[in-house]
Amino acid sequence: MTRILLLGGTGDALRIARALPSTNEPDRAHVYSLAGLGKVPDDLACAVRVGGFGGAAGLARYLLDERIGLVVDATHPYAAQISANAAAASRWANLRYWALRRAGWQQQTGDDWRWCDDWDGIVGLLAPFARPLFTLGREPLAHLEAIPTHQQWTIRCLDAHPGNARARVLDARGPFTHAGERALFDRHAFDVVISKNSGGSATSAKLDVARERSVPVIILRRPTLPAADREFDDPADLLHALRNLP
Ligand code: NAP
Repeated sequence: MTRILLLGGTGDALRIARALPSTNEPDRAHVYSLAGLGKVPDDLACAVRVGGFGGAAGLARYLLDERIGLVVDATHPYAAQISANAAAASRWANLRYWALRRAGWQQQTGDDWRWCDDWDGIVGLLAPFARPLFTLGREPLAHLEAIPTHQQWTIRCLDAHPGNARARVLDARGPFTHAGERALFDRHAFDVVISKNSGGSATSAKLDVARERSVPVIILRRPTLPAADREFDDPADLLHALRNLP
């Protein structure tokens, strides 16, 4: 049976890991791999490994040592480094590289989206606003000392952090509901939202609420990801293909 290395760290990846076909040989179990930044599931039938591989070369060594037969990249669309490493390592190890590439969100009538490519772009677009909601993960935490005096930031991320006089940090994990997002917007009167274009439904309610309230959204463009031998946008299709592997 083809031994699968599933690179994860997303809700979709975890659902796939839970549904992977089981193997009869315990030392040939499929492997679910996590960077180690979030929760580590302890209820999976497959093996779980945590932590980096040591770059593309380390990953290639791992693939050969563990006799992996297929690499499946179900990491987050903004996790560009591990995807680049996985594509390169698979090539070196002469393995197929499949990827789950969730579709991005599409702008709808009434949306005021402003696109940028990096942190400097965000800072430039943010200048006219006073009460931003950051939903980018932990990156804004590195810039707390540079908050302009006219701004009060709200940073929602997975990290517990004390913030400072001009920044509150909300330690929260999706999925987020419309009711919850409306209550949050009511409480803090955000005048702009900063977001990745993650896609999916778990964190999209903020975009609907921003649209309802005519609040602009600054969107960080997706990074370029390596081409895969097969790309899936629906986890169910990927799972179906995995179940049909020899
Ligand atoms: P990244 O910049 O692409 O990767 C940084 C390094 O972390 C990689 O070079 C690799 O270390 C290690 N790594 C990342 N994902 C790994 C995995 N699944 N298994 C083993 N090692 C992994 O990644 P990131 O943006 O920091 O994201 C880290 C993890 O969080 C990813 O698994 C991703 O799916 C998840 N995540 C990311 C975001 C996001 O917005 N970036 C959002 C939600 C979830 P080595 O080079 O040592 O192998």
